[in-house]
Amino acid sequence: MMADSSTIEAFRKKLIEKGFEDLAKDLRENEIMKPHTSFRVGGPAQIYSEPSRTEEIVALSDTAKALGIPCFLMGNGSNLVISDEGIDGLVIRLGENFSTISSEEDPADPDAVLVTAGAGTLLIRLSSFAAKNSLTGLEFASGIPGSLGGAVFMNAGAYDHDMSEVIEKVTAISPSGEVRTWTKDELDLGYRKSCFMANGGIVCEAVLRLKKGDAELINSQIRTYTEKRTKSQPLNFPSAGSMFKRPEGHYTGALIEQAGLKGFSIGGAQVSEKHAGFVINKGDATAKDIDDLVRHIQKTIKEKFDVELQREVRFIGRGFN
Ligand SMILES: Cc1cc2nc3c(=O)[nH]c(=O)nc-3n(C[C@H](O)[C@H](O)[C@H](O)COP(=O)(O)OP(=O)(O)OC[C@H]3O[C@@H](n4cnc5c(N)ncnc54)[C@H](O)[C@@H]3O)c2cc1C
Repeated sequence: MMADSSTIEAFRKKLIEKGFEDLAKDLRENEIMKPHTSFRVGGPAQIYSEPSRTEEIVALSDTAKALGIPCFLMGNGSNLVISDEGIDGLVIRLGENFSTISSEEDPADPDAVLVTAGAGTLLIRLSSFAAKNSLTGLEFASGIPGSLGGAVFMNAGAYDHDMSEVIEKVTAISPSGEVRTWTKDELDLGYRKSCFMANGGIVCEAVLRLKKGDAELINSQIRTYTEKRTKSQPLNFPSAGSMFKRPEGHYTGALIEQAGLKGFSIGGAQVSEKHAGFVINKGDATAKDIDDLVRHIQKTIKEKFDVELQREVRFIGRGFN
């Protein structure tokens, strides 16, 4: 799918009218998404932007709305399979430009510190900031390769912990373009679930409440988690982590292994030999290979065990939605 240059020109014109000349100038056409995702698949985004300020995100999404163009917001691309045929409309990526971190003592609790970070901040960096400042609560996130915004959206978690334990509040842009604060209770955080999945809000910043702790214990916990990950996960192949949500009463990896699918592949996509809950890109996988393999796994598990595996990884773009 190639961009229709009249669409981009109309987009640029609207942004310039709103006073966002630099943003208009930096819009990219037919940006290949493959390098922007951990799975290393994905065709072109019709229009692509990496804004630096919240007002720029608002201007981009308002303009898309005004022109009737779909808009998809991504973080670090570590939970995505993007279609080989690309994505229609605008893709906004929140990266380094939204990665400030600051902290202050919690006025309500002498044992806690409030850490404020931009949505593009990598969880790995945030977890290391916490460890350096002897703050506990984010050890579980030390190996999750997503951004803070993506982690809030997904309520990312590991080792029986998740973001809901540390989130205090979130600043986000509502679908109507209003920038406001969401309290923790409003976020509707559950297993790999937040209110933003239903309401389409864009997370710009989050405040996390971390506890003062012991640097040695924090670092030792991080080392333990890192060893576990390195031993059990296929980290030397591109992937998006666990492909499926954990079905109640079962372990996904064990079900897939019992079904004889460990190592099974379609094209360049393979069920990891190291961890059957991961689908990996052996090097030349297409998004279609991954989708076909995932469908095959879901069908097999349903037939053999009457269990419905739901995708945790989000499939985005032409043909997928
Ligand atoms: C090797 C590996 C290991 C992993 N391990 C774990 C793990 O242990 N636990 C776990 O939970 N996940 C894990 N993941 C998956 C992934 O890292 C998380 O889901 C992460 O939270 C995704 O963040 P992201 O910034 O990459 O989001 P993306 O993949 O870019 O986007 C994911 C979704 O979040 C939305 N989104 C992103 N940013 C925002 C924002 N600012 N506002 C609103 N919506 C937004 C996007 O629209 C999209 O729907 C792993 C992935 C890999 C590759």
